[in-house]
Amino acid sequence: MSIYIVLLGPPGAGKGTQAQIISGALRLPHISSGDIFRENLKNQTDLGKLAKGYIDRGELVPDDVTIAMIRERLSRPDCRDGALLDGFPRTPAQAQALDEMLVDFAGKVNAVPLIDVPEAVLVERLTGRWTCRANGHVFHEKFNPPAKPGICDQDGSELYQREDDKAETVTRRIRVYLEQTSPLIEYYRRQGVLLEVDGTQSIEKVTEDLLSALPRREA
Ligand code: AMP
Repeated sequence: MSIYIVLLGPPGAGKGTQAQIISGALRLPHISSGDIFRENLKNQTDLGKLAKGYIDRGELVPDDVTIAMIRERLSRPDCRDGALLDGFPRTPAQAQALDEMLVDFAGKVNAVPLIDVPEAVLVERLTGRWTCRANGHVFHEKFNPPAKPGICDQDGSELYQREDDKAETVTRRIRVYLEQTSPLIEYYRRQGVLLEVDGTQSIEKVTEDLLSALPRREA
């Protein structure tokens, strides 16, 4: 039986950080829609070119494009036993499409941790964030600094500031979350799969809360 977990929460809540930590413990691949888009941007694929304008403006890439991309990713062999989804779904149409595609993959959304962080904290978190060029590992200059400034602890690659982590775009991304993504909280609460986690705690405590609440694959 496969397990699909959807990490929900505003930009800057720590979804990417937590997904990188817990995907090993859960033995599920970390599927980040934002990372896939950034990889396509870097490689200048057609998908990357299409997505660029939306990402730079802090808007959502259209549903049909995003849904097709995720369907393709989830159909690969490494997702045979499920996946830890980070950044998808982000609209009610995407959530519905995910439910439908998981029927084809003989699974369903098993758990949706909502990493809750008040709006006021998010801007500081995002504008101080540094991302690793090679694998998207994330750091924060104040809350989670790398051992050597500008260098990723995990793989030694260069850290950079995402274009869409600049203050003006961050505000737009938070607004987009509140308008388009936050309705998913109710959607998943009604399905009985929502788990609320206090995202203002330390990284370690959030990890602990997530791991104690989440279902595991059978050994
Ligand atoms: P993230 O790394 O999750 O913050 O995503 C960065 C950007 O990629 C977002 O601001 C959107 O422009 C785009 N993006 C990522 N995931 C989605 C999604 N599920 N639907 C639409 N756009 C997305």
